[in-house]
Amino acid sequence: MIRELIRDEALLSMPCEPATAEDAELAADLIETLASLEDAGCLAANQLGVPHALFAYEDEKGAYRVMLNPKLVFGLGPNRVVEACLTREGESTAVRHIKIKVDFDALVDGELVHRRREFAGFTAQMIQHMIDHCNGKYI
Ligand SMILES: [Zn+2]
Repeated sequence: MIRELIRDEALLSMPCEPATAEDAELAADLIETLASLEDAGCLAANQLGVPHALFAYEDEKGAYRVMLNPKLVFGLGPNRVVEACLTREGESTAVRHIKIKVDFDALVDGELVHRRREFAGFTAQMIQHMIDHCNGKYI
């Protein structure tokens, strides 16, 4: 189901609760909503008004993926970038790492499976922006 984006600053500034396997439907809605948006590469659950720690993003091959409970393990090569956000007016600057390692959960057959992966470039930048959303960091 395509859901409406919310721009409520108080909700977006709140750290998200851990995501669970119960969030499977929300994960599907994140993908469907993200796919319906033009010029958007990632979308966090709290941007749909649900403060749970998960998000969807489009990978380098154009496939939509979901990460639950993402945590940055480490980052290399801090870089100052200008970013736009779907639920905030204008652009802002942020420091993003060029290469990152992330711990997260994936939904596999209705169960959470722990994963650890490395990402680089624009995908790494989007994931760092999404981790900020999950932490209630709203620049
Ligand atoms: Zn954003």
